[in-house]
Parts: sequence; C-alpha cells; structure tokens
Amino acid sequence: MAFPTTIFAPMEALAGIPPKLVPKVAKLVGGMRYADLLLHLPTATIDRRHVTTIAHAEHGTLCTLRVQVVKHQPTPRGTRAPWRITVTDETGIMTLVFFNGSNWLKTKFPEGKEIIISGTVEALLTEKQILHPEAMPASRDIHDLARLWPVYPLTAGITQNMLAKAVGSTLATLPEAPLPEWLPPEVMHTRQWPDFLGALRTLHLPRTETDIAPEGTAHSRLAFDEMLAWQMALLQARQETRTHPGIAHPLTFELRQRFLDSLPFTLTGDQQKVIAELDRDMTTPEPMLHLVQGDVGAGKTFVAFAAALRAIAAGYQVAMMAPTEILAQQHFINAQKYLAPLGVTCVLLTGKQKAAERRNANAAVADGSAQLVFGTHALIQKGVAFKALSLVIIDEQHRFGVRQRLALSEKGIHPDILVMTATPIPRTLALTAYGDMDISVIREKPPGRTPIKTTVNSTDRLDDMAAALQRVLDKGEQVYWVCPLVDESEKTDLANATQRCEHLQQIYGAQVALLHGKMKPAEKEATMQAFKDGQFGILVSTTVIEVGVDVPNATTMIIEHAERFGLSQLHQLRGRVGRGSLQSHCILLYAPPLGQYAAERLDVMRQTEDGFIIAEKDLELRGPGETLGTAQSGHIITKIADLQRDKHLIVEARNLAKAYLSETQPQEVEDGLKWLMQLFGRDEATRLMQSG
Ligand code: ADP
Ligand code: MG
Repeated sequence: MAFPTTIFAPMEALAGIPPKLVPKVAKLVGGMRYADLLLHLPTATIDRRHVTTIAHAEHGTLCTLRVQVVKHQPTPRGTRAPWRITVTDETGIMTLVFFNGSNWLKTKFPEGKEIIISGTVEALLTEKQILHPEAMPASRDIHDLARLWPVYPLTAGITQNMLAKAVGSTLATLPEAPLPEWLPPEVMHTRQWPDFLGALRTLHLPRTETDIAPEGTAHSRLAFDEMLAWQMALLQARQETRTHPGIAHPLTFELRQRFLDSLPFTLTGDQQKVIAELDRDMTTPEPMLHLVQGDVGAGKTFVAFAAALRAIAAGYQVAMMAPTEILAQQHFINAQKYLAPLGVTCVLLTGKQKAAERRNANAAVADGSAQLVFGTHALIQKGVAFKALSLVIIDEQHRFGVRQRLALSEKGIHPDILVMTATPIPRTLALTAYGDMDISVIREKPPGRTPIKTTVNSTDRLDDMAAALQRVLDKGEQVYWVCPLVDESEKTDLANATQRCEHLQQIYGAQVALLHGKMKPAEKEATMQAFKDGQFGILVSTTVIEVGVDVPNATTMIIEHAERFGLSQLHQLRGRVGRGSLQSHCILLYAPPLGQYAAERLDVMRQTEDGFIIAEKDLELRGPGETLGTAQSGHIITKIADLQRDKHLIVEARNLAKAYLSETQPQEVEDGLKWLMQLFGRDEATRLMQSG
C-alpha cells in the first residue's frame, strides 16, 4: 500500500477556516503542510456527552440539548447589551446569549428552526441561559456534537471549532486501513502502541480523557516516531560528511605556543582540555564536526583562536562567522590585539563595508594572504572565494541555519567545522539535538570573576528600583532593563518596553535608550554599539539583547516579569552582566502572586550561576500550564516529544535509528521510514538538527 503524500501539500482549503486565516493556522501549528496540522495535538478535552432537556439542565453543567428557536432579541442600538435568543423544547424555555452579536445570528438560527446546542448552563433566578453555545442544525446526528471534544492550543482569531473541523476533514482524507508498520513488532507489542493513523485518530477524536494523555500509548507512539525520524536524519547527515576525506592538519603547534605565551592569563583547565579534544579531531582526515558548549564568559573565543592558529601554521585559512556585525567586529578586535602581533593577517568582512574596502578584503581572501577571516553572513556571499580554507568556526551556532553553515563550509574542500554555543544543553537534549556531533564542554569559568548578586523582588518595588539606578549611573556603570514577554505578539512586548523607556526617561533623560525586535538590524547594532561605547547608561529592551556582546561596564540587569521567562532565558539574559571584575547585580522582578513553579525557578536563579545546572532544572521545572518564554529548551526542537517526559524513549529511538541505517529493511519498512522522515522533516527541525 502506498503511503499518503497528500498531507505534505501546503494547506490551501481548510474546512471551517476562511482562506485568509490559513496563514494564521500555519503559524500556530508550526508549518504550512496538512501534516503539520495533523501533528498539532490537543492538550485537553471537553465533554459534551451529557444530552438532556431544558427542564433537567442543571446550573453549572455542560449540556447538549435539542431545541427550537423562538425569538431573537437583538442588541438595542447604541448599547453593549448582548444579543439574546429564546429557545424552547417540550420541557421549558431558555436563552442563548451572544456578546458582539449581529444579524448573522438570525441567518444562523432562523426563528422556528430546530437546532442542537451545547454549552454550560447558568440557572438564574428568572431563567436558564447558555453563553455562546456551540450549535449545529438538528438535521445532524446529536452525537456529532454530544461527544468528547479535543481542546487545541489556539492563537487569536482561530477557534476550537474551526481547528477541530479542519483537522477532522484532513483526517478524513487519510486511508481507513493502517499503514504498513515501520516500527518493529517487538516494540509495538511491549509498549502496546497503536498504529500511526490509529494514534492520530485517538488523539484528535478522543473517546476518553486518557486518550490524549501525553503518557498514553497514542501520544507516546507519535513522540517516538518524531524522535526516530530525528535520530535517523542526524545519523544520516553525519554519515554523509564522513564519506568525504577532509583535511588532516599536521602537528604544528609553534605558532600557537607563541600565542599562549603572549596571553596576559593562562587558559583554564577546561579551555586546555577542549583545545586538546579539537586537536585530536583536526589531526584525522575525517572532516571534524565539533560543538563547543560553554556558558557565556567561559572563554570560547580563545579556544577558537587556538584551533585557528594550528590551521594557519599549516598554511591554511580559517573563517570565523558570527551572527551580528558587532560580534564579528568584537572577534576581529580581539584578533588584532592577540594574533596580529604574531604575524597573523586578519581580515574583517561585513555587509557595512565600503566597496573599495570590501574589494581589498575579498582579494586578500582569494589570494590566501588573509589567514583568519572574520565576518557575518557576508562571508557566505558569492563573491567570497577562499584559496585554502581548512577550518570553519561558527560562533553562536543556534543563530545560523544549516544552509548557512553548509554554504560556508563549501568554500573549502570538506573543511573541519567547529561550532560554538553558549546555550548549555542537558545531555539528553544534546543527544537528541546534535546526534553524532562531537561535543566538548567548557564548564569552568576563568578566575577572578565576581559572582553576580541575584535578588528576587515583587514589582511593587519597581519604582524603588528605578530610583536606585542613579547610584549605578553615578559610578559610571551601565544598566540593562529587560521588559516582559507578555504574549507572543511582539506588538504588546514593544508597547511595554516603550512605556518603560518613557518612564525611565522621565527620570534619567537622555541616559535611556530603547532596543527592540522591530528595529532594523543596522539600527539595533548602532544602539548596541552606542551602549558599548558608553554613550548612554540604561538600555531598555525586549528580549532581543544580542548574544555574546561584551559590555564589561554593564553591571546591573533588571528583568521585569521574570516569572514569565524560562530559566535558560533568564540565565542568558543575566549573562549580559558580570563580564568584568566589577560587582554585578541581577534583579528579577515578579508580579505577585507567584506560582509554585515560578517561585522555584526564580529560586534556582538566586542559588546558582552554573548554566548546566540551570538547564537541567529548566527541563525539570517546566510547570504544567504556566506561561514560559518561547526559548524553552525542552521544546525548541521537538513538537510532540517532551525531552524530559520522554527521555526514556530517546535512547531507544537512537538505537533503532542506528539499526535501521546499518541494515536494509523490508521495502515496506523502508518506504514507511522515508515517509516518516518527510512527515517530521520540518524546516525548523532540520535547521537546528544540522546546524547544531
Ligand atoms: P564566551 O565564551 O562568552 O565567548 P569570551 O571568549 O568572550 O567568552 O571570553 C570572555 C572574557 O573572558 C573575555 O574578556 C576574555 O578576555 C576573558 N578570558 C577568557 N579566557 C580567560 C582566562 N583563561 N583567564 C582570564 N580571562 C579569560
Ligand atoms: Mg563568545
């Protein structure tokens, strides 16, 4: 039997959804395809199974009833009163209440017509009523409405009903019979898993509350499928790179030694350990793909330089790509300071350069005289050709896509690749996200750092905080003020940040500037640069503060509504301060009352600065039903699987992926796996999985 492929087409017509809202649905479900809609799973159920009559409908219960429309009572002109519809059955009368009602209600519920309605009954003194009931024509089977309904995560403008309809009609396009199974019978049997389509139907058309439980068999099966697809993609990508011989860097360390001797400090034990690990990979002809994880301020730049010097000493070129101009420049300045004196020619390539400057830089890259080339995305443009690129370094890798990484490495012949990230990732997550990439960790911080003092305060103290900033400014130090992530709409976030900025400007005038996500990249960079240069003292921002930017003079970080952020995000934000020897402070402001999980999260922040402990806690403490920042580690990379809850499945998925890739399977299974990979091959997934 063929696997259905229609679900990979882009969503066009969706039953129950006006065409202009389809993009909204795509955004909500995280993809353009019908498949993405099918993988948008309900998180709760609503029980409309109680069928009754008006006389028996009790206050506060969710009832489904068959009634007849008697009379409309439209909203009186110029008022905000609701639109009311009187309905009846043999046992009594009742009112349906609609706010923002209009004439469409008359069309939908013509007087005299029989309808089936469902909603929570309110028994008032004088009458029974239902506010905004669900409804359908009485010609339908009452059990079309009187059933258990899935409840989906929504976005503004899309209702449960619309989504349920769209999903239902998409499900109906799938074959009735189970697909040929790609999971081994033993696994299916031990775990009592349903077949793939069965699992989808169970989740979208639940018959009991437990059908949709994340620990249930239907959900677990899909989570496992997702992890299997993921692991297969990772392993395949890695196998692919291994088949091409790359560069075996000779054992040339003299230049590096001179560099180490010239540094005003000694490298930490972890920095040295990681350099040795990179050395091992660079020695073999197999192309290196190595991730260096190190918390902000761990000193990754110097590790990268040490690796670069080995390649340069062997006569090759090195490219180091950073996500922003300001970061590329920061690296370039460091290189000028530490590497140029050793005779290394460094070049900066950015989008901002003038034509002549750019031409010179390009020429130096092409003829090989530029040994270490820094840049942003400008590095991967067509005109840039390296003479002999043997090492590609990507800083803050999560900011780049796989295509960008590949584009840069294609400028050499299977060069070694070193990617660096400041996002500490727990082991289970690393296994999933990075698969076969080699991972080194810098855990130890360079000595001499003054720990950041973190305090947690209620927003009631906000005015005190604002006033206290004067003392910071008086010392000539600087402040970051991060505004709340209210919801996913950037507009509201911006409004908050703008308001706070104005508020602070009333006190501190030109000492305050605003940075937000709606600004053009060049504007953002200019503001960031001005802050770095000390042109103003307080930077109010949404959560867009650039990663990796070093402003040693910034010593105070204030985060409003800290309870709404995920731990990892708080950690990243806090890492913007404490970068020099000055005493730094981080003040986490929360709006009471503080939930249990939020309280625990903030407490973790107070207790530790260790990014790895924080990342582990982050996975552990994601409280059910709490609003968290979008940068939550557990869900960055998976849609269905939860890496904490399903961690027992990851290793199993990984082993199965290995087995599948090492031996040819029966055609059915091979076909199934191909289909599965396509199913879960979301852009986002591919991006993180391979660029990582
Ligand atoms: P990150 O890992 O965040 O990229 P950087 O490489 O930017 O960190 O280093 C952060 C700061 O620590 C820099 O100012 C750097 O000069 C300093 N640094 C790095 N390594 C050491 C060390 N071994 N001893 C002292 N200072 C160090
Ligand atoms: Mg860095």
